[in-house]
Amino acid sequence: MKKYRKTWAAACIVTFSLVGCGGGGSDAGTGVNTTGMATSSAALISTLVTLPIESLSETEQNSLVFMREEEKLAHDVYIQMDGLWRGYTKVFGNIANSEASHTESVRQLLVRYTLPDPAATLGAGVFLNTTLQNLYTQLVATGSVSLVEGLKVGATIEEVDMIDLNKALTEVDNQDITLVYQNLLKGSRNHLRAFVNALAAQGVVYVPQYMALADYLAIVNAPMER
Ligand code: MN
Ligand code: MN
Repeated sequence: MKKYRKTWAAACIVTFSLVGCGGGGSDAGTGVNTTGMATSSAALISTLVTLPIESLSETEQNSLVFMREEEKLAHDVYIQMDGLWRGYTKVFGNIANSEASHTESVRQLLVRYTLPDPAATLGAGVFLNTTLQNLYTQLVATGSVSLVEGLKVGATIEEVDMIDLNKALTEVDNQDITLVYQNLLKGSRNHLRAFVNALAAQGVVYVPQYMALADYLAIVNAPMER
């Protein structure tokens, strides 16, 4: 948890430091195929039930609870951005659909391990984790400034998501959790590509804020994954 908090605290600072470049412009476009995402999500859930329910460490418990809300945060921010910027781009709406399936797949794991769902009774933009709650407010404020700022917030969320997931994958060993986290990572790689492409369509070259440049380039220079 401490590690996550540090990552997100840093994310806030950098997000706030991003300088606005103006918004507007034509449809930024996206390569994200929400049908493909939905298909792989259904396949994921059907694979999950074939895997054993293994003993759950405290680290794994905490990780699942956190990831449930971290994926919800991405979803809820993108829904807000879609409301503001859908006249210019479909990227937020498409990716919000994908995040809905991501947070649902983590919820499935909570159910499998009979853990309480932190998001069970919370509405859009409301989080049990206070760090994520504050972050949500900050990200929405930053992304509301302009379309470009919104797209940068998206790319930044995906970067931090991948860093958190890669870290979590070193701390979990249950097959079902690993499977879900690998799937979330693949989604984040596609989302990063979509946001970076949408920024390019606005004439903006995205500069990675957290990822090593080589890792970032390897992702954005590779095609969308199914
Ligand atoms: Mn996600
Ligand atoms: Mn994402």
